[in-house]
Amino acid sequence: MDTPAAPTQISISSADLERMRQDVESRRPEEACGLLAGRAARETAIVERVIPMRNALQSPDRYRLDPAEQLAVFTWIEAQGLELIGIYHSHPAGPASPSETDILEAYYPQAVYWIWSKQTGEWRYAAFSIWKGSVSPVTVLLNSKAREE
Ligand SMILES: [Zn+2]
Repeated sequence: MDTPAAPTQISISSADLERMRQDVESRRPEEACGLLAGRAARETAIVERVIPMRNALQSPDRYRLDPAEQLAVFTWIEAQGLELIGIYHSHPAGPASPSETDILEAYYPQAVYWIWSKQTGEWRYAAFSIWKGSVSPVTVLLNSKAREE
């Protein structure tokens, strides 16, 4: 089977961006992690839900999703008619780029890996696709579309 094409752009509302920012801030000094559910339209992934997840390692420099929670949320995402389009985590004291471990443990070629960093004092973010050791930047598009809850 061919590897699904990774998106080159990810679109997110300012409200969802703020949800993620608040999550990574509230979980400092641990690394925060979570999932982004939405839709993939050609090369652009569109975020529709930010889903904070437990960091099973409770570590300041590693994260791992809890397998049981991950399975439950994957099932929920599918039931909503959405797709897993991204995985976010934070580097409270590291750079906004994937670590060697992040690259080794990137199992979802079609997902966008979104990384938050507070290394410079302010939260910054960058997004990537990662597959088989190669890392490509993904452009973040901010949209102002309001979403009904
Ligand atoms: Zn990382």
